[in-house]
Amino acid sequence: MHHFTYRNAQFYAEDVPLADLAAAYGTPTYVYSAATLRRHYDVLDEALAGAAHTICFAVKANSNLAVLQLLAQRGAGFDIVSAGELQRVILAGGDPGKVVFSGVGKRDDEIALALRHSILALHVESEGELLRIEHVAAQLGVRAPVSLRVNPQVDPKTHKYIATGLATSKFGVDMRSAPALYRRAAASPHLRVVGIGSHIGSQILELQPMIEAVAKVLDLVHRLRAEGIPLHHLDIGGGIGIPYRDEDTVTPADFGQAITALVAPHGLHLITEPGRVIAGNAGILLTRVIGTKQNGNRNFIIVDAAMNDLLRPALYGAWHGIVPVQQQDRPEHVVDVVGPVCESGDFLAQDRLMPAVETGELLAVLAAGAYGFAMSSNYNSRPRACELLVDGASVHEARRREDSSDLCKGEALRPV
Ligand SMILES: *Cc1c(COP(=O)(O)O)cnc(C)c1O
Repeated sequence: MHHFTYRNAQFYAEDVPLADLAAAYGTPTYVYSAATLRRHYDVLDEALAGAAHTICFAVKANSNLAVLQLLAQRGAGFDIVSAGELQRVILAGGDPGKVVFSGVGKRDDEIALALRHSILALHVESEGELLRIEHVAAQLGVRAPVSLRVNPQVDPKTHKYIATGLATSKFGVDMRSAPALYRRAAASPHLRVVGIGSHIGSQILELQPMIEAVAKVLDLVHRLRAEGIPLHHLDIGGGIGIPYRDEDTVTPADFGQAITALVAPHGLHLITEPGRVIAGNAGILLTRVIGTKQNGNRNFIIVDAAMNDLLRPALYGAWHGIVPVQQQDRPEHVVDVVGPVCESGDFLAQDRLMPAVETGELLAVLAAGAYGFAMSSNYNSRPRACELLVDGASVHEARRREDSSDLCKGEALRPV
């Protein structure tokens, strides 16, 4: 459910015609819908009402300050993977007391920053990291709240780049080594055991792997509690998939019901770390057609957005819907929609049946609100896109388009 719709054959973001946004702010531009973000958050919040819970939005999915601010105002916590993300959460008015810190490679200075801001939990991903967190906490004279990220070895049945809970993945701690690490943590004056968690992957379309993972972790909770290890929260990670095409996905209601039924009886506070399911369908990428061409038997639509703006098609072969902003009856052709970047991997769509388009017209790349701008770069010295947050009829410029001075920022010529 989202608030990008056609009205009188014109594509709108809430009450604003996208053509007006392109005229005022140029292209390529990311456009987010505030009503959609709020709705996605609220639906999940209601679905989890059966258990005490905190929704920690995964900042890496969409880290724009205005988006984080909107979610913080809704009561969201945040899942971060770097000190930079923590700084964004704080700038956006988020509560560090509702922040969990994931990731396999936290530096000492990042751990220290997290401890100084008294975040909710550091998710420990190895024995070495547990010892480093203890060391940094000792130096600061504090007790670090720790939660082990265990690896339940469940196949989430998703793209291999976003499956994170398999035995061979770089993430998490083996379930078998978890008890020893918990004993070590519980005995330390500089560590405080607060919870346990797992995150098995992203764009998960079935409930079963998630339930299996939670059940395995709950098993471990029993054994740990029997040893006197106190566990306050259970973090089930993120990963709920969204329909990019017409996939059947897990509904928040089914997800909420199944998970709260499993977790609530154990008196654990439930934490979840959704990224894509909150932000994905809440954003589109607005782009303009630069031209069309034919090579051999292939038809290309060349647009002004490229893999540096939206990497997902190039990185994962991801499918995004692409629609004309001005709807009209016209013949359809099979085309590749490509950007100007000098890579054959630079495409937004391949072998796609699309209405014939004209040079200069606008297209909207759908479901681009998660892992869109956040993964963008300056490759080919392309300024990064503008980001807008639409709320009803109001438009907020959430990030101005970069210009040529941004491109060389921090660089220096050698003295001559
Ligand atoms: C990426 C990530 C998430 C968010 O995943 P989504 O698929 O966007 O919900 C949550 N937790 C961790 C640890 C992650 O790495």
